[in-house]
Amino acid sequence: MTTAQLTAPAVWIENVIRDFIDQSPENTLQGAFEEKAFENPMVGFSKGDDPLYESYKEVVGPFHWTPLEIFSQTFPGIQVKAEELAVISWILPQTRATKADNRQQTTYPAERWARARIFGEEVNVKLRKRVVAVLQKAGYEAVAPMLAPAWEKKMSDQYVFASTWSERHAAYAAGLGTFGLCDGLITPRGKAMRTGSVVARIDIPSTPRAYTDHRAYCLFYSKGICGKCIKRCPVGALSENGHDKVKCLQHLKPATEEYVKANYHFDGYGCGLCQVGVPCESGIPTDQDVKS
Ligand code: SF4
Ligand code: SF4
Repeated sequence: MTTAQLTAPAVWIENVIRDFIDQSPENTLQGAFEEKAFENPMVGFSKGDDPLYESYKEVVGPFHWTPLEIFSQTFPGIQVKAEELAVISWILPQTRATKADNRQQTTYPAERWARARIFGEEVNVKLRKRVVAVLQKAGYEAVAPMLAPAWEKKMSDQYVFASTWSERHAAYAAGLGTFGLCDGLITPRGKAMRTGSVVARIDIPSTPRAYTDHRAYCLFYSKGICGKCIKRCPVGALSENGHDKVKCLQHLKPATEEYVKANYHFDGYGCGLCQVGVPCESGIPTDQDVKS
């Protein structure tokens, strides 16, 4: 174990994530788009005993794991307390080119966006594996909940479609952003992003949260203005009442699936029209962004 790993584990882990996204040839949209899938990441940390994780059993569903539950499932032979665990979260912002292309779309995703949904998520999977491998090599047990064999999608009374681990909720706990009208997480680098997380037995202080309200950065909830994402949705899945996940999913599959296959010639899907061309696309929105 190096001195950096022992004295500044947060910096060490952040550099592992940054180096992967900045330097690895695996960060690619593939095919004709041999370019980066994601730009410079943001990294945040939450503690395993953060009370938010218990609260997710109410707001997401009783099936949502705490960090301790997924850690203990993965390492049944290790006795550990929740406060000994850290949740490492990251935000992978979509590139300028991907956002610009999708901004032009009115019904179906741009090819770059669809590629980011499929091949970009493959990058995210590799990043989760990389972070786990680096931690394990240094002697810290670690697991990526999304890659755990027991991870599964669930139905939730509150959120309709949910799962046993929500990376957006982990990112919220790690101070990386708050939820918008369309359910996306609005981060300081915007809402057009993908997110990932790893739970590890390592002592890392939590990242301060600059908010107490889970919708603080959305202008619709905080100030009663904006609502621009509503107009971006091609199928009316967004309204002042929020995000209709059933309508949204019906557009994703089969409509965008068929479009991607016919026009871009790979098996994929995606939409994200509500994540671009809106005030919260690339940062925390202000009143001025709504006027411009
Ligand atoms: S576009 Fe406006 S209303 Fe929609 S999530 Fe962003 S800030 Fe909220
Ligand atoms: S992802 Fe597409 S279909 Fe779903 S809410 Fe956003 S714009 Fe509408």
